[in-house]
Amino acid sequence: MFKKILIANRGEIAVRIIRACREMGIQTVAVYSEADRDAIHTDLADEAVCIGSPKPKDSYLNEKNIISAAVLTGAEAIHPGFGFLSENSKFAEMCKECNIVFIGPDAEVIDKMGNKSNARKIMANAGVPIIRGSEGVVKDEIDGLKIADDIGYPVMIKASAGGGGRGIRIVRNREDFINEFRTAKSEAKIAFGDDDMYIEKFIENPRHVEFQILADNYGNTVYLGERDCSIQRRNQKILEEAPCPIMTEELRRNMGNAAVRAARAVNYKNAGTIEFLLDKDFNFYFMEMNTRIQVEHPITEMVTGIDLVKEQIKIASGEKLEISQDDIKIQGHAIECRINAEDPARGFMPSPGTIELVHMPGGLGVRLDGAIYQGYKIPPNYDSMLAKLIVYGKTRNEAINRMRRALGEFIVEGVKTNIEFHYNILNNDKFLSSDIDTGFINKEFGL
Ligand code: ADP
Ligand code: ADP
Ligand code: MG
Repeated sequence: MFKKILIANRGEIAVRIIRACREMGIQTVAVYSEADRDAIHTDLADEAVCIGSPKPKDSYLNEKNIISAAVLTGAEAIHPGFGFLSENSKFAEMCKECNIVFIGPDAEVIDKMGNKSNARKIMANAGVPIIRGSEGVVKDEIDGLKIADDIGYPVMIKASAGGGGRGIRIVRNREDFINEFRTAKSEAKIAFGDDDMYIEKFIENPRHVEFQILADNYGNTVYLGERDCSIQRRNQKILEEAPCPIMTEELRRNMGNAAVRAARAVNYKNAGTIEFLLDKDFNFYFMEMNTRIQVEHPITEMVTGIDLVKEQIKIASGEKLEISQDDIKIQGHAIECRINAEDPARGFMPSPGTIELVHMPGGLGVRLDGAIYQGYKIPPNYDSMLAKLIVYGKTRNEAINRMRRALGEFIVEGVKTNIEFHYNILNNDKFLSSDIDTGFINKEFGL
């Protein structure tokens, strides 16, 4: 097992990883930008190294400085968390060249799956159902228009390098296609530095249902059930639950086996997620694979009792998976609310500033994965997610009541948050009966 791990991230996920390491008796090295001198992850780790100025490009995306920090402190492995360098194959390769273990899959696998249009081909070959769409990348808008005509409207234009719900556009009418395509392409260029686009049929009113998998270096691959992430605003998840309320044993087996097939097709190692869309007739389609730990991983931990970050570290260090498919039992119900520093009254604009006062919820079945404290100055340079509030209950109903109770206890003053918005979701009749799909927020809240 590793003696020391460097965490190439910040915020709650850096804290989450430090916690796992500490419980495993592993020393931790935090890296931080000049804006994060007073951040919790900087304080909590055994050692901390400043890696540059606040701009992500200069610090959390600065491969050389991060690797240097690992070499200088003698860290044997790097955990990339999510976002930043977590799906950067070049960085994974650099780690390898420097004899540092990248806690994640091999660089080639990140490349294969990170290119979303390419991943579709690999999945189709592995017998995993995909959404009807373009074969690979679309050359230009004329080529795109032909493909869209052929698929039939509405279609979705998506960035092959996309992530975080960005670089996606729906086109409902043929006459809008060319313009939308051009806009999407230029947006993708700015957001991802890559403007390869692909097209998919737009699935009407689907649920987003994703499967967590774990795979060791010896070909053992298991699925840990699913997460329903249909509560989204503009294709970005805001509340997730496990299990999916409409899941059946049979569908879980079918989707889980497809997820395992998908992972095996690329000789996947470590933790990963296969995202599917599930339509009204219970047909499911591969959407993408996230080759890293996910934001919403805690809800899977709550219903399976398996610590996914510890599993990632054990796998990366060469241990064999101790869990077999039969050991994995889904028990109870978990919900996660992403608590963001943003202002719902102003189009969910980020609301950085100083946290004047904070009271964190607690009690039976409540988990808070966060990185805030009273007096903390939220830098404007990064993602607005402050914390994840996670609850567990024996039933969905108990989890909902518990989440309402916990949200009520959660007090943040000084910056605007979406806490009350979550409360409104948890009191919506459609949500309560789980009559939801990815258009829920738009239909129920006009957002
Ligand atoms: P998850 O898939 O784990 O639910 P998200 O899609 O919300 O996570 O993304 C997790 C974090 O990583 C967010 O902060 C998001 O902005 C960022 N992110 C994800 N993919 C990319 C990408 N390709 N480029 C830049 N940032 C990304
Ligand atoms: P990202 O890499 O940004 O997470 P995804 O491909 O996972 O992008 O899509 C994000 C969200 O967009 C999905 O969760 C879903 O709500 C919506 N979406 C993506 N593709 C389709 C599609 N073909 N039909 C309907 N909705 C889609
Ligand atoms: Mg996705």
